[in-house]
Amino acid sequence: MAERIQKLLHQKQTTGQVTIKGWVRTRRDTGSFSFLEVNDGSCLANLQVIADKNLSNYDVDILRLSAGCSVVIRGELQKSPAKGQDVELQAGSVEVLGWADPETYPLQKKRHSLEFLRSISHLRPRTNALGAVTRVRSRLAFAVNVFFQERDFVQVHTPIITTSDCEGAGEMFQVSATGEKKDAPFFGSSAGLTVSGQLQAEVYALALGQVYTFGPTFRAENSNTSRHLAEFWMIEPEMSFCDLACNMELASDLLKYVLQDVLDNCSEDLTLFNAFIEKGLIRKLKDVVEKDFVHLTYTAAVEELQKAKADFEYPVEWGIDLHSEHERYLTEEVHKCPVIVTDYPAAIKPFYMRVSDDGKTVAAMDILVPGIGEIVGGSQREERLEVLEKRMQEAGVDSTEYDWYLDLRRYGTVPHAGFGLGFERLVQFATGMSNIREVIPFPRTPGSAPC
Ligand code: ATP
Ligand code: MN
Repeated sequence: MAERIQKLLHQKQTTGQVTIKGWVRTRRDTGSFSFLEVNDGSCLANLQVIADKNLSNYDVDILRLSAGCSVVIRGELQKSPAKGQDVELQAGSVEVLGWADPETYPLQKKRHSLEFLRSISHLRPRTNALGAVTRVRSRLAFAVNVFFQERDFVQVHTPIITTSDCEGAGEMFQVSATGEKKDAPFFGSSAGLTVSGQLQAEVYALALGQVYTFGPTFRAENSNTSRHLAEFWMIEPEMSFCDLACNMELASDLLKYVLQDVLDNCSEDLTLFNAFIEKGLIRKLKDVVEKDFVHLTYTAAVEELQKAKADFEYPVEWGIDLHSEHERYLTEEVHKCPVIVTDYPAAIKPFYMRVSDDGKTVAAMDILVPGIGEIVGGSQREERLEVLEKRMQEAGVDSTEYDWYLDLRRYGTVPHAGFGLGFERLVQFATGMSNIREVIPFPRTPGSAPC
C-alpha cells in the first residue's frame, strides 16, 4: 500500500482518499494533533499520518499508540510540507486492531544490533533492515525463475528426501520415521535430506535438455561460519550438450541478470544497505553487472597465491583445496572482481566431474566474489561410462547404489554440465550482509533452530 501511495505520487496524483493497513513505528504528539509513522511492509518508507485531536477516539486510542500496534487508517493524502517526504495522510479514522505493550515489545525506536535481532527472528522482519532483506530475497528468487524461463529451461522439483549422498562428504542428516525399526527402514534403505539436487537434475537434463532446480538443501556442516547454514537454498541448472565454457557463460549471465534486476527494482532497499550495511554496495553491484569476470585456471590461481605477500593460515601448493582465505585473496586483493577458477585437481573434487585430457584435472569451475568467496560451484559432468566407473571406484563410492546414474551413461549419454549457486550467498552479496544468518528468515545452524 505504501508503495502504491508512492506510485500515485509519481503520477502526480498526490491527493485523494486512501487506506493504509500496517504497524505503527513511532508516535509524536503536538498540542493539537499527533504524528504517526506507519509501515505496511510493502516498502522501506513509512507513511506519515496526521491524527487530529478532534478524532473521536483520539484520547482513548491514539494517545496510547506505540511501536508495533497494528492499525487501519483511512484519510486524505496531502502534499507534505515536511522535509524528506512528499505526502502525508490526514487521518479521517484510525482503527486499532492490535496493541503492543511498550513495556515488553522489544523493537523500540533505537537501532538494534543484527545479533540482537537474530534472537527475535519472529519480530525482526518488522525492522527496516530485515524487511529490506526479505524483499530483495523475494525479488532475487523471482528474477532467477524469469532468467531460466526466458531461456526455455524447465524447472524440475528434485526430492528433499534422498538415498544418495551426492557429495559423498558425509554431511548428511538422516531421515527416519518415528519408532521405525533399524532393520525395516521406512524407505527400504537408509535415507537422508538432500545435499544437492544435481544427480536428479542430470536425469531430467538427459531427457529435457535444459533444466534447473531451486530448492532447499541440507548439510550437517559442523562449522559456525558466516557463510554456512545447515539448511540453505540452492539454484542448480543442468544442461545437456554443454561444456565447461558454456557452463561458465550461463553462470556469469545468471549473476549479472539477477543483480541488474535488483538494481532496477529494489533501489530503495539497496540505498539503505549502501548507507548502513556496506558502503559502496551499489557501485560494487554495477561493476559486477558491467565488467567481465576474470577467468583463471586453478594452476594459475595457485601461482598467484604463492606470489602473494599475504600470510595464509593454510600454505599453498598445487593439489590443495582452496580455503576461504585463498578465495577471498584472489577476488578481493588481486582482481577486485568476480573470479572464475577452473580445472581443479581431480583428487579434491567429486567423482562426477569430467576428467580432462591431462588426466590430472577435472572440468570444474567455482565462481568467487568479494566479501564471500565461493558463490558458485559447478563442472562439466563425466559422460563416459568407463571413466565414471573408474572414478567411483577410486572415490570408494558403491556403484551398485548409483546404477540409475550410470544408466544415463549407458543409454544415450551426452556431454553435459551444471552448477550450484548458493541462494543465501547471492542474497548476502546483493545486500552486503556479512553474516548469512541475516539473509534467510529462520536460520538453522549448529545448536540453533528457533521458530
Ligand atoms: P564451501 O566450500 O563454501 O563449503 P562447497 O564447495 O561445499 O562450498 P558446493 O558443494 O559446490 O559448495 O555447493 C554449491 C554452492 O552452494 C556453493 O558455491 C555455495 O554458494 C553454496 N553452499 C554450499 N554449502 C553451503 C552452506 N552450508 N550454506 C549455504 N550455502 C552453501
Ligand atoms: Mn562445503
